[in-house]
Amino acid sequence: MQKKDSFQALGLSMDSLSAVQAKGFTQPSPIQEKVIPLLLAGNKNIMGQAQTGTGKTAAFGLPILEKIDPRAREVQALVLVPTRELAIQVAGELASLRGRKTVKILPVYGGQSIQPQIRGLQQGVQIVVGTPGRILDHLRQKTLRIHNLAYCILDEADEMLNMGFLEDVKKILSFTNTNKSTLMFSATMPQEILSVARKYMGDFELVQMGEATLTVPQTDQTFIPVRDTEKYLTLCQLIDHTPEFYGLVFCRTKHEARKLAKRLANQGYAADSLHGNLTQAQREKVMMRFRKSAVRILVATDVASRGIDVMNLSHVINYALPQDPESYVHRIGRTGRAGKAGKAVTFVGPNEDRKLRAIEKMIRIPIRKSSALSQAVPLQAEPVKKNRFMDWRRSRTQVSARTR
Ligand code: ADP
Ligand code: MG
Repeated sequence: MQKKDSFQALGLSMDSLSAVQAKGFTQPSPIQEKVIPLLLAGNKNIMGQAQTGTGKTAAFGLPILEKIDPRAREVQALVLVPTRELAIQVAGELASLRGRKTVKILPVYGGQSIQPQIRGLQQGVQIVVGTPGRILDHLRQKTLRIHNLAYCILDEADEMLNMGFLEDVKKILSFTNTNKSTLMFSATMPQEILSVARKYMGDFELVQMGEATLTVPQTDQTFIPVRDTEKYLTLCQLIDHTPEFYGLVFCRTKHEARKLAKRLANQGYAADSLHGNLTQAQREKVMMRFRKSAVRILVATDVASRGIDVMNLSHVINYALPQDPESYVHRIGRTGRAGKAGKAVTFVGPNEDRKLRAIEKMIRIPIRKSSALSQAVPLQAEPVKKNRFMDWRRSRTQVSARTR
């Protein structure tokens, strides 16, 4: 029986369905419901926008995995992502969705020796997931050929633009064949993204989730007014009052992040930092310890933490306000993923009210005032179900009704 709202109803093969089931997905997310049938139906350019953590990877991943010919030993899909961590993460997510199909997927990124990548590419990879800089290196030295793509995917397009990858992406596109599908996915949709899409994609279908807010409703957003000198103690209080604290703490600079993590660790907290000064191997080690929750407090800078997908974070703390409202959305998008509940707490200094209001204006919901101690309320009023996409669809409607 094909239930409406089920993965079966989207036209996926048995193989994909069992992969999806093995991952524990019981129901497609809204963006998956729209994008999967479109891509299965044939060649199309798509620009898709949906909140972070709503399964955009599987939205394009499942259908392209179905369309790829595992016997043809050439690159058929190129996925461009803004950071190394994302390259690893997206390649991993795709690998977990391929079922028994023998599609070869290779992450390719800077900071890792190029030789193993070259050997990997020589073995007939069908999907390459990479960061723009390293992909260009391979194209220039002809260790990667992308002249016969079925799909070119620009994932986290807003981030790629933010991080100044537009020129690199343009160059990469000039190496590709024209008769491919170009797919762009993004959490936010600033004007610039749309104009890039219009310029480089030709005709495309816009799939926008029409969300009432840019942030997911199961992320509880509050702020705490605090002076600079009180920040550290407030953070400790907040952590001490949350029995299962597991979160990201955002700082403005590498230096600040390192210093804060050290101070916490010296006082016995399971804290570490993630910032741009670490080598790739160090970053991976920190991330692994965080994923296994050996590190429970990860102090990070914006750039270092782009797109990190760690499930079940209890908190995202803005120890320092982000530079712009978009970064706020990306930061707090690290919690409330796949329908799970989480808290986003922002420290606001005496002169930062205006910045806070700019954020509220952009996300279109008010951020409540709170204190470190009021964070002690239980994290989840109801038990966490494995899949709460249904629930967040319902709760989203409630939020939009409230803000109207
Ligand atoms: P996005 O790219 O939209 O930020 P991701 O593709 O990284 O989101 O997915 C976020 C998390 O949700 C991942 O851990 C993914 O495995 C999970 N996920 C994706 N689709 C579903 C689904 N239909 N049901 C449950 N979890 C899902
Ligand atoms: Mg994504």
